[in-house]
Order: sequence, then C-alpha cells, then structure tokens
Amino acid sequence: QETILQVNNLKKHFDLGKGRILKAVDGVTFDVKRGETFGLVGESGCGKSTSGRTIMGLYDRTEGEVLFEGKDIHKLSEKEKFSFYRNMQMIFQDPYASLNPRSTVAEIISEPMIVHGLFKTKKERMERVYDLLEEVGLNRDHATRYPHEFSGGQRQRIGIARALALNPDFIIADEPISALDVSVQAQVVNLLEKLQEEKGLTYLFIAHDLSMVQHISDRIGVMYLGHLVELTTSDRLYDNPKHPYTQALLSAIPIPDPDIEEQRERTILEGELPSPIDPPSGCVFRTRCPMAMEACATTKPVWQEIEKDHHVACHLFNEDIDKPHDVREKLQ
Ligand code: SF4
Ligand code: MG
Repeated sequence: QETILQVNNLKKHFDLGKGRILKAVDGVTFDVKRGETFGLVGESGCGKSTSGRTIMGLYDRTEGEVLFEGKDIHKLSEKEKFSFYRNMQMIFQDPYASLNPRSTVAEIISEPMIVHGLFKTKKERMERVYDLLEEVGLNRDHATRYPHEFSGGQRQRIGIARALALNPDFIIADEPISALDVSVQAQVVNLLEKLQEEKGLTYLFIAHDLSMVQHISDRIGVMYLGHLVELTTSDRLYDNPKHPYTQALLSAIPIPDPDIEEQRERTILEGELPSPIDPPSGCVFRTRCPMAMEACATTKPVWQEIEKDHHVACHLFNEDIDKPHDVREKLQ
C-alpha cells in the first residue's frame, strides 16, 4: 500500500516565555497509507490536535518532517502550498465555530472554490454546491440558508461539504463527532465512510475516545503527553493492547453485556495528566502507570516494532531493560 503521509519525529513546542516551553508534540513518527483511516487517540491535552494542525501546516513545526506525497510540506513554496491545500483539508470539532454565521451555506461551500478559481461561472459553481449538498445528505434548498438554522449534525455535514469542495485526497478530521449527540455521531461516521468509499479519501481521524475510532479506523495511534505510545491495526489494538496506557483506555470503555462487565479486570488510571510544560523524566506515563519500574524514571522508552505493524514505546517490551521479579510475573 502506498504511503500518502509520512510524519518523522515531529515536534511542536510552544515558547510560553520565562524559559517555559510547552512540549505539545514531542517526537511523533507514523505513516498513513492511501485510502485508509488512521485514528489518532488520546486524552485532551495529549497533542493530537496540535499534531493535526502541524501536519496541515497551520503551525510551523519545531523539528521533524511532514512528507505529503513525498514532499516536505514545511518546505513548500507559497505556490506549492496553495495547491497542497487543494489536496489536504480539515474538518473541525465544532462546526458552528468554523462556519461563518453571516454567510449562507452556498457561500460557505463556494468560498474555497472561489479562492482556488475552480469554476468560470457562478452557475457551474452552484451546480457543484448542489452536488456537494446532496453528497453529504442535505439538499439544494439548504443552499440559501444560514448555519444557525441547522442542527449540530447538519452543520457538520456543511463543514464536510466545504472540506470536499476542492476534491481533496486527504482529510484531517479533528474530533468531528465529539460535540454531537450520540444519536447523530453514527450518522456522521457513516457519511464519512460512504464518502471515503466513493472518493478514495484518506482520513486522519482525531478523537479522545477509543470507542469513537474503533469502527472507522484501519490503524490507530495512541498518544500520551506529546508522544505516541502504541500504534497498530485497529483489531489488534482492541484484542491485544500492549502499552499500559492503551490497556487503561480500553478498560474504561463499558461493555454492553452486564455479565462480562461485572467480571472485567479494570486498569484504573491514578492521578492527573502531568503538565506538558514539566513532563516526567524517563517515560512520560510513569506517574500513572501501574507497571512502572526503576528504569521508567531514568530512561526514555524507545519506539520499537515488537511485531510486524505493531509499535510500542514501553520498557516492558525491551529486552535490554532489567525487570523486577513482580513485573516479570505480571507480564506472564
Ligand atoms: Fe509504564 Fe514503564 Fe512502560 Fe512507561 S515504560 S508505560 S512507566 S512500564
Ligand atoms: Mg483537541
């Protein structure tokens, strides 16, 4: 499968002044294959949205590379950047905040087409607007209306129509369903899947909840405090999570069957998420990890491929790290 996006050791630090540096993204490496959905998951503040924005070029990177179709997007000329944005678009968490309240739906969806000079006449452009509205499950009568006249789910559909206006190959969806009612979430996910199938789209799907990305993602990367801690196929992540943080996230998802639910062993995360301004030494997860050992405080775990297509950053899976007896036993 062809790689469409390659992210290499990406870092995004924010200088807060007085020597304080917020390490929002601190060395993240992954690739996305053409046509897949890559889920990026973690608690709020873990750096997943900042990763999305830095990949999109909305933020300058501090270090590392973002290669889109082999080209480093942070090294593009202005002209190249302009055409790059035809191929990569973003959908946001809060469709209301991202849609201009004073513009009609037609104006909102046409704007990128006008900026990119896509159609010669207004009539052609409006035909495209009508087609897009139908593709996202709205209709042409909606074109003259304003964002406040729509429900949250419909507004997200408008945001999706606008993101599709330039026919992109790649869409970064930053928590596109988190703000929606549960009953509407599945509809928007179904729409995104339908569009992916029809148009061969590639998605980077950002979410704070593993249950939200489980069904839509082919592969999932789990982030914690600016780092990727685990990355594998969606099935393997659910069936056989390796990193203690992934295990904790999964055990927090309720299971509908009460018999199974009662018998489950839960990994409860103790303590608060530490600040990315002053992250723990060694492994950033160690202050909340039920398996933490001595080496975790002193040594940063390496990002290693423990089986084909399964990466983990954790000393438990590193043979060179000495493990105390009780940890060995728990691992068996
Ligand atoms: Fe836990 Fe140590 Fe693994 Fe970090 S490296 S996840 S602290 S066992
Ligand atoms: Mg966010």
